[in-house]
Amino acid sequence: MSRLDACIDHLRDLVAFPTVSSDSNLAMIAHLANRLEDVGARCRILRDDSGRKANLFASLGPDISGGIVLSGHTDVVPVADQDWATDPFALSARDGLLYGRGTCDMKGFIAACLAVAPVYADGALRRPLHFCFTHDEETGCLGAQALVAEMADWDTRPGLAIIGEPTSMRLVEGHKGCCEYTTTFHGLAGHGSNPDLGVSATEYAARFVARLLELRGELAARAPADSRFTPPGTTVQVGGLRGGIAHNVIAELAEVDWELRPVNAADKDLATRTMRDFCNETLLPAMRAVHEGSKIETETIGDVAGLEPVDDNEAARIVSGLTGANGADVVAFGTEAGLFQKLGLDAVVCGPGDIAQAHKPDEFVSTDQLAACLAMLEGLDAHLRA
Ligand SMILES: [Zn+2]
Repeated sequence: MSRLDACIDHLRDLVAFPTVSSDSNLAMIAHLANRLEDVGARCRILRDDSGRKANLFASLGPDISGGIVLSGHTDVVPVADQDWATDPFALSARDGLLYGRGTCDMKGFIAACLAVAPVYADGALRRPLHFCFTHDEETGCLGAQALVAEMADWDTRPGLAIIGEPTSMRLVEGHKGCCEYTTTFHGLAGHGSNPDLGVSATEYAARFVARLLELRGELAARAPADSRFTPPGTTVQVGGLRGGIAHNVIAELAEVDWELRPVNAADKDLATRTMRDFCNETLLPAMRAVHEGSKIETETIGDVAGLEPVDDNEAARIVSGLTGANGADVVAFGTEAGLFQKLGLDAVVCGPGDIAQAHKPDEFVSTDQLAACLAMLEGLDAHLRA
């Protein structure tokens, strides 16, 4: 059987696991661990607190630092309310395209990893090769965050990571971060006829939103002159605003859903500090002057670290050598790459399939893209044995 055929067989197996982010991924993780143990990999399965989700970290080659990580997420977005021509959890092939939920984002890459693993099973690697398959990427890189936190304590750590999110096999060296927050205002209810006797959570939420919109302008003015992102700077967006129960009742509770897409860590720090200080120094004292029990709480819903382009990136050198890419791109979507970079690894994103097909009905990956990915992964041989 050709390696491409083996890859398609693996993809058929993987698509059949309905690993929508809200559901358990344990069966797929066990399957991946079995396939990698078949070729002699040392597997670590790391469960989350709920016990329903797990990350898999599998290693071939010597137990030393500096290895290469191939990273992907096992979860997929839901298919509810989508109109599919075929069963989304049964791979179907037509005209060189392979259809099914996750084929593009990103079980195609994982299938390519499984198909190429036997190449590295001979026990002769001089540099380790790791496979890192995580849970809950689509809901904020939760699995990768937990894994990276674990890895920080490991004695031996990998040196670089290739994240196989769909880039049409283009080399991507940068993406913005994505930080999502919900800020909740707890005021004091009262009769609408005397606003001074209550603390209107909705009115304080509105002032918070107004400050966010000012911050948007401040961040836009800080956009790096050489930025390759569109828009060039860090953005702020208010996605939700809820509160109040009636026209004539002072609102006790209000919530603001907002997000930041920072181009660098400095902007993220500035933005979060600005809003925290505004709450603590301006809004809260005014609320508490009326009602001591007033509160403002901010919950982090998602925190995907950005991937900052850097000059000396071994992962970019290796991948551009293998794919023939001249130059590297930046993209608008977030991945796990920024988390690895924060841990000190060189990281890039390069994987099969077009992000335009991700999350859609009739999601597909082409066999050509899988073949190109296999070629890249086979080419790592030179870097693992040198
Ligand atoms: Zn993805």
